[in-house]
Amino acid sequence: MRKPFVAGNWKMNTDSHSGVELAEHIASGSLEIVGRKVTIAVCPPFIYLGPVINALRSSNIALGAQDMYFESNGAFTGEISVSMLKDIGCTYVLCGHSERRHVIGETDELINKKVAAAVSGGLLPILCVGELLAEREASQTEQVVTRQMKNGLAGLSAEKVLAVTVAYEPVWAIGTGRTATPQQAQQVHDFIRRLLAEMYDDKAAEQIRILYGGSAKPGNAAELMGQQDIDGVLVGGASLKADDFLAIIKAAV
Ligand code: PEP
Repeated sequence: MRKPFVAGNWKMNTDSHSGVELAEHIASGSLEIVGRKVTIAVCPPFIYLGPVINALRSSNIALGAQDMYFESNGAFTGEISVSMLKDIGCTYVLCGHSERRHVIGETDELINKKVAAAVSGGLLPILCVGELLAEREASQTEQVVTRQMKNGLAGLSAEKVLAVTVAYEPVWAIGTGRTATPQQAQQVHDFIRRLLAEMYDDKAAEQIRILYGGSAKPGNAAELMGQQDIDGVLVGGASLKADDFLAIIKAAV
């Protein structure tokens, strides 16, 4: 049985005051709700990871980073390593978020290096995959997701891949208010699970959590997570409002 997972991606939002306030509100609200029934994580901007982990100290909420670099240290100006993220208290890291792919220009090859470095360094990567609107309209969703999964996980053994969470995030649904229907999302999640079985084995397909991301909110979270292969949600906009994020966590129980 896969434990539901709700993760909030704060993107380039909040500041030192509002980030801590948001984390405190989510921490106190989630204590009453779920305890150990749901994995919960928040991914603030790098510079607020420290203050946010302090605010989460007595909660069940894990800390995640929005990105990382694959090298362990050295002359990589502006980058952050796995050991730095672990040092500050991170458990998770997003790899290949659609904004990193399509705004910043990250390639499958770079994302694969990040996923591999995260796993070897003891961070749990959340590998984000998903098609553009034009690709969906050209019936290329499965082809795109297959490429992103195969390239993103290249070289990872069947044992190591168990550290990975996959997030299916159709790009046309991210930050647009246009959510995939539960049926559309389930269809791709089922495809990804079968792909994991083909790439690895039944154990990987059964154990790896596949989250949905794309305008998830309190009004649609329960129905999305009610689908057989949707194990949780990666939430952008609605994770910036503590009450909305808490309502989504409740919907996962
Ligand atoms: C995201 O950032 O991963 C995301 C899904 O954003 P939103 O919920 O705002 O669509």
